[in-house]
Amino acid sequence: MSARDYAEKDYYAALGVSKDASSADIKKVYRKLARDLHPDKNPGDNNAEERFKSVSEAYDVLSDDTKRREYDEARSLFGGGLRTGGFPSGGGQPGGFNFDLGDLLGNQGGGFGDVLGGLFGGQGRRAQPRAPRRGADVDAEVTLAFADAVRGVTVPLRLSTKGACPTCSGSGAAPGTSPKACEVCGGAGVTNRNQGAFGFAEPCRACRGTGRVVETPCPTCRGTGETTKERTLTVRVPAGVKDGQRIRLAGRGSPGERGGPAGDLMVKVHVTRHPVFGRTGDNLTVTVPVTYPEAALGANVKVPTLDGQVTVKVPAGTTNGRVFRVRGRGVPRKSGTPGDLLVTVEVAVPQKLSNEQREALEKYAALAPDDPREHLREVIL
Ligand SMILES: [Zn+2]
Ligand SMILES: [Zn+2]
Repeated sequence: MSARDYAEKDYYAALGVSKDASSADIKKVYRKLARDLHPDKNPGDNNAEERFKSVSEAYDVLSDDTKRREYDEARSLFGGGLRTGGFPSGGGQPGGFNFDLGDLLGNQGGGFGDVLGGLFGGQGRRAQPRAPRRGADVDAEVTLAFADAVRGVTVPLRLSTKGACPTCSGSGAAPGTSPKACEVCGGAGVTNRNQGAFGFAEPCRACRGTGRVVETPCPTCRGTGETTKERTLTVRVPAGVKDGQRIRLAGRGSPGERGGPAGDLMVKVHVTRHPVFGRTGDNLTVTVPVTYPEAALGANVKVPTLDGQVTVKVPAGTTNGRVFRVRGRGVPRKSGTPGDLLVTVEVAVPQKLSNEQREALEKYAALAPDDPREHLREVIL
């Protein structure tokens, strides 16, 4: 986030707090707003969604002492409420040579294709070198406990993002020096090569297409002009995410430039296994052992759910593997009706018998001489 982007946004107004609000107050206000404006609570309300985003963005900055200080400085430097356009180049970092590859190559993705497009008569994007640019999408991964994935959870997500080096403002040149025009390409960033009837322009290898060469590299970034910044985002993972699912958090990626929108944050979710519950789609599954007498005579069996226990009536004559459905005790769904809990009954066979038990079973066997394999007899013979 450049100082200028900061200057264009009023984070204090977004949260409705005063400039000298304490971090505790900011946190309190944010929590309430985040709760009220949460998309789960306001389905289909674009207005609430936008507000939710801007509140999250404001909190991201104001909750971080360093970022808040930077933000306050930027606001006092440029004044609040500044709109895009008319601002001198340099991205709001006074005193530093601000070298922006995107500007040189013509913005938007800044690929070499832009340079070539410009050379070969395409419009290029040089026409609007200072147009707003959307921030890059950022990929992240998070591992959630099984129950958290089912219920939804707010997790801190540490991200490392690359940004302009603060020492050299991204130029890559040591303070007090500035990059020189590349001698190989004369600063154009491209060289021409002739092959048969065609001339090709290709990115200059000496300066890697930048048109500039750093003679005395900045000690902080070793001449790359980039440093990696750690930032921690608080991310609300919606209820019901699945292992391997990717969720897109709009506007939580890299900040845009020159007033452009922020990129998105793509979070790949991993979900750890649960010792008891499984999941198929929006249904939870659980296997519940019952004794042979319970299965044969019927019983009320207490079954755990992710949210307390329920009693399942196992009717007399229940066979091994029968599945009972407990409605609404599965995974929450956007539609409002949660999935179900599927309870599989497993008839437990005792591994040890006392003499008394053995006698009782032998007595039972004598009373029930039916052959359960009768239907297999023809096949066997
Ligand atoms: Zn060059
Ligand atoms: Zn540097």
